[in-house]
Amino acid sequence: MIENYRPTKAVIDLTAIKSNLTYFQEKVGDADVIAVVKADAYGHGVLEIVKTVIENGVRMLAVATPDEALFLRNHGIDTELLVLGATPSQFIPIAQQHNIIVTAISLDWLSMAAMHVEKNLDALKIHLKVDTGMRRIGVQVNEIDEAFGFIADHDFDFKGIFTHFATADEKDSPLFSQQVNAMNTILDKLDDSSVMVHISNSAAAIMHPDLVCDAVRIGISLYGIAPSPYVGEEMDFELQPALSLETEMIQVKKLKAGEALSYGATYRAEQDEWIATIPIGYADGMLRGLQGQDVLVKGKRVPIVGRICMDQCMVRLSERSLIGEKVQLIGRQGQQRILIDEWAVKLETIPYEIPCILTKRVPRVYVERAELTDFSFQQSNKMLR
Ligand SMILES: *Cc1c(COP(=O)(O)O)cnc(C)c1O
Repeated sequence: MIENYRPTKAVIDLTAIKSNLTYFQEKVGDADVIAVVKADAYGHGVLEIVKTVIENGVRMLAVATPDEALFLRNHGIDTELLVLGATPSQFIPIAQQHNIIVTAISLDWLSMAAMHVEKNLDALKIHLKVDTGMRRIGVQVNEIDEAFGFIADHDFDFKGIFTHFATADEKDSPLFSQQVNAMNTILDKLDDSSVMVHISNSAAAIMHPDLVCDAVRIGISLYGIAPSPYVGEEMDFELQPALSLETEMIQVKKLKAGEALSYGATYRAEQDEWIATIPIGYADGMLRGLQGQDVLVKGKRVPIVGRICMDQCMVRLSERSLIGEKVQLIGRQGQQRILIDEWAVKLETIPYEIPCILTKRVPRVYVERAELTDFSFQQSNKMLR
């Protein structure tokens, strides 16, 4: 039971997650979908998301940090689990104890891990990361023979090999082709067919179905968000955005022509205007840069006016409303929809950032039906009539 006396909440539609997952599962056929649930499942709440994807056939999860992996294990999740980022020496025996797969990010990391494995436990499970062009982490292409040799000479459980694309979400990227070629050269040298090969993120899985290998790592699009506008336009499936953000009006008043509102008194009413105050602000992730962004009231777009405060902000209504009237900040209301992508444009960033910046203060509430928000909108309309 989530305590939530304030009406502000992020509603997460698990049916949408399921639908997006099914799309990828059907697309990759016999290969596996690795559900990327780092950063609290891209801000959607990791435990509920993990439960949903496991119920729907996902056999492997990926997180970014050792702590994220341990959190899942400590909450009874025993699914195969890969840490995509770096793990320090102290974590090596813990990974062995908890059956967590860690990523070998470099030759140095391999020597470090070899020194810290606990001999009495099951062998350390590793996936080898190859840097084919992202230049972030990974064994360098010219070190690959040494890496394979080192792994063979030591007591690792060599489970997988992968790389990550820098430009999979762009049209005709030369770097993307270079990375594919580099990876192919490396895979030619791999003579162990039990090693799982996975190279695609959401964008690559959508745009390059020929590169599936043994699994794809799906993050952003599992949550119903396109990796880039280009991929969004090109794809043959309508992703279902899982997250909507909503609140209710806590005060409605008339601002007289010429009167100002909020900090700095920077916004001034040009004529008499109905203004609603809503209980969400930058401490919730509703950043100040969202001033001027539309929200939905009774299925219509109305703008946020004046400076956004820490806990509250104001919207200019097109007509009088009542306290308690629902305000949709992200999501659908009637015929109108505000996508995370629209916030990203307003904030001059990428959609990935948006769900990650919604803070802990915003409770995540789970529903199983995409229509639910529409339904409550119709209800609130009825009450007003
Ligand atoms: C985050 C991440 C992914 C998921 O990428 P999306 O673009 O969100 O699908 C895949 N692989 C690695 C290594 C990552 O860090």
